[in-house]
Amino acid sequence: MAVLVLDKRKRPLMPCSEKRARLLLERGRARVHCMVPFTIRLVDRRIEDSVLQPLRVKIDPGSQTTGIALVRDQDDVDVDTGEVKKVAHVVLLAELKHRGQTIRDALTQRRAFRRRRRSSNLCYRAPRFDNRVRKAGWLPPSLQHRVDTIMAWVNRLRRWVPVTAINQELVRFDTQALQNPEIGGVEYQQGTLAGYEVREYLLEKWGRKCAYCDAKDVPLEIDHILPRSRGGSDRVSNLVIACHDCNRAKGNMPVERFLAKQPERIRKILAQAKAPLRDAAAVNSTRWALFNALKATGLPVESGTGGRTKFNRTRLNIPKGHALDAACVGNVDDVQEWQKPVLCIKATGRGSYQRTRLDRFGFPRSYLTRNKSAFGFQTGDSVKAVVPSGKRTGRYRGRVAIRASGSFNIQTPQGVVQGIHYRFCSLIQRADGYGYSWAR
Ligand SMILES: [Zn+2]
Repeated sequence: MAVLVLDKRKRPLMPCSEKRARLLLERGRARVHCMVPFTIRLVDRRIEDSVLQPLRVKIDPGSQTTGIALVRDQDDVDVDTGEVKKVAHVVLLAELKHRGQTIRDALTQRRAFRRRRRSSNLCYRAPRFDNRVRKAGWLPPSLQHRVDTIMAWVNRLRRWVPVTAINQELVRFDTQALQNPEIGGVEYQQGTLAGYEVREYLLEKWGRKCAYCDAKDVPLEIDHILPRSRGGSDRVSNLVIACHDCNRAKGNMPVERFLAKQPERIRKILAQAKAPLRDAAAVNSTRWALFNALKATGLPVESGTGGRTKFNRTRLNIPKGHALDAACVGNVDDVQEWQKPVLCIKATGRGSYQRTRLDRFGFPRSYLTRNKSAFGFQTGDSVKAVVPSGKRTGRYRGRVAIRASGSFNIQTPQGVVQGIHYRFCSLIQRADGYGYSWAR
């Protein structure tokens, strides 16, 4: 685990090791600046006296979880061949869990309440003029939240480490390299970069499900419509995505015999195989919005493809994971020191304005207090509790949920501990809209 380091004026320096941070703290040369991620501030060093190396933030945006990796760039020159290898040394791995669904649910509920109020109380009022116009580039709040939280974390990292460049996985596959793959004739070859791009293209084209049985969320393989043993080509127009069972059952049968009992499906598969995928499917609006927001930081932003990410990850024998995927984004020859714990950041929000809790029929169930803090604590604060006696004797550490009675709940990695009195709690870090945990 790297420790982030600031200079005496809170400007970012190169991260250091845990051991070095411990020594600096013991000798009184540093102060703790932030607990998660652990950041120290040197009291006797200025950025002008330090040597900085290039650091890169890599992002793999996902619909529910976004992988973030902070890496140190290094060019290794091969002594024999003189080739330059781009090596990424992993400094920090993080996963950002979004709360898009929660936002969507809350807004749907609010919309229902407002509609009910308007239709039952004001049903005789004429409809208002429809003057609501959405700005260009408008995204639904649940998706805008994704862009906003990723940008919040990029900006935080920029405050804590001297970031010099950003990489983002922008598209699933390279539309430039695969320009009209059906017509242009990109050949599929397993294990090559083009092979991975084709695979991502096919996954998108066939909707990430088996073309023969519609199986979803299973390992999917590439299958030849006309088998190679019967003279079928490796061209994209002869390929489908199939589950393992269908692929094996089909063997070297042509599709007409394999699906003899489903003429409708044969017709659909053959038609879809010939139809090229539209460009729009490869680039989604949220990723573009993020890309533009990243470019607005003024740092150089490189974009990568999902095909290349997977190619890098497989080639380097790195296991699957959001944060590790992020480390493999873009043009990189080697990724080192990736065996690190992953910081899981969960977007929790900062509570709600609504002071009435409702049951599922929309009737008041309970009321929240007007004050968001009690006894100096707020829901979401990270606390440590030491209970000396009684039923809950022990030490607890985690996210606190406050109660006006002073009897708090603490969310620990082992589960929720209820009924901890505020007198036993001490603050570790103020709530900042995120929950933190570590994963191996
Ligand atoms: Zn299948």
